[in-house]
This record gives sequence, C-alpha cells and structure tokens, in this order.
Amino acid sequence: MHYTYDLHLHSCLSPCGDEDMTPANLVNMAALLGLDIIALTDHNSAGNCRSAIQAGEQVGILVLPGMELCTAEEIHMVCLFPTADQAEQFAQEVYKSLPPIKNRPDIYGRQLFMDTDDGILGEEPLLLVTASGISIDDAPALAKHYGGICYPAHIDRASFSVLSSFGVFPRHLKFPVAEVSRNGNLQALRDAHPALQQVKLIGASDAHYLEDILPPEEDRVMELPERTPAAVLHWLEQGGKT
Ligand SMILES: [Zn+2]
Ligand SMILES: [Zn+2]
Repeated sequence: MHYTYDLHLHSCLSPCGDEDMTPANLVNMAALLGLDIIALTDHNSAGNCRSAIQAGEQVGILVLPGMELCTAEEIHMVCLFPTADQAEQFAQEVYKSLPPIKNRPDIYGRQLFMDTDDGILGEEPLLLVTASGISIDDAPALAKHYGGICYPAHIDRASFSVLSSFGVFPRHLKFPVAEVSRNGNLQALRDAHPALQQVKLIGASDAHYLEDILPPEEDRVMELPERTPAAVLHWLEQGGKT
C-alpha cells in the first residue's frame, strides 16, 4: 500500500511552535489534509508524543513519536521511534545533556505539554532550542539503542543543517535518508554533494503553524506492507525501500 507522510512537525511544546499547534489540532489538520502517516518532532523533547499518538488513533492517522534533536554541533536531526515509551527514554538522555538555560516565554513563547483534549498538562521550564550535548557522531547509535532512527533534517538550510555546519555530507555516518526542506532542489543538491547519491532524500513541512502543514504530495509517499511504526522505520533504514 502507498501512504502519504510528513515526518517533521512541531507542536506547542516547541517555543517557536504556535500555541494552536496542540497535539489534537495538528493531528486533525493532518488527517483533514489527507496525510496517512505523520511524526511529531518537537525540539529536544518528546513530551507531547503520547497525546499526539492517542489523538491519531481517534482519527485514524498513524503518528510516530519523535524529536528534532539539536546536536552539540547545532545540527538538527529528525529522530523517530516505535513507541512513546522509547521516544521518552531517548528524550530523557537528551534532556540530561541540555544546558541549564531557562525558557523565557515572553521572548521565545511558552513550551506547553498538552493532553488530547487541548488541556494544558504543564510547561517545560528549560529552553528546548539550545544545542544538546549529543554529537552527530553519537546520535544514530543512541537513537538505535531505543529502537529508533535519526537522520539529518533540512540539509539544504543555511543554518542548523549538516551542510551548513560541515560543508559536505558526512559519508562516514552512512545515513540512509536525509531531509530536504520544502523548496529544496534535489538535483542541485546531488550535483553539489556526490555523497548524497546513495542517500534517499525526503521532504517534510517542518510546520510550526497549522497552516504550514503541507498537503500530501506525489513525492512524499512510502510503499509499506502495513501502516505501523516498525514498517515506517524499516522503510527509512532501507533508504526508501520496502
Ligand atoms: Zn530544524
Ligand atoms: Zn523543525
């Protein structure tokens, strides 16, 4: 079966995420647009994933728990896991490595934990958009330890990306997939970076606002034997093959 997907979405737990991006709202908007599979990837936290998964079950959309990890090198990585438990355990490791900088809601916005009915469960006090202590070299093994996968986010962006930090795509880390931002030019990227020839490039909306969630697109489809987190993670590990 073919499934449309968007594996990079933020909720109101991200300080830069709109407060209307509650787990219920973002899941409902994704379902309304016709997406089959989404992932919740807040900055350095998986705190709203459990609610998003539950909201997804109510409307029949598969939600993978995840995180957008900011590595020690300030490179953003999409990390995805089979279960909320595993995502939360990974998130605890990340949390322990964050610098002790408090969020300033007046500057950055609130970082809200929400239930599936738009109720506020709490607020994250530490600023989540700082660099964690986890390096890009260690991130894949740490994600794997919790049953997950991680790959570079928006590699074509001028900041917080593997290409902006390193200038080249790190061949030695053997990423099977990498994410390109919504207006990325795949051919130009491949021409400029031969190391990307073996890498499956996937798109994502990286939405922080409901209206920025992209509708399904022809090139954001995965062929899976079943619509489960395990099948999605396997597809990613195989570089877009079933
Ligand atoms: Zn990012
Ligand atoms: Zn993002």
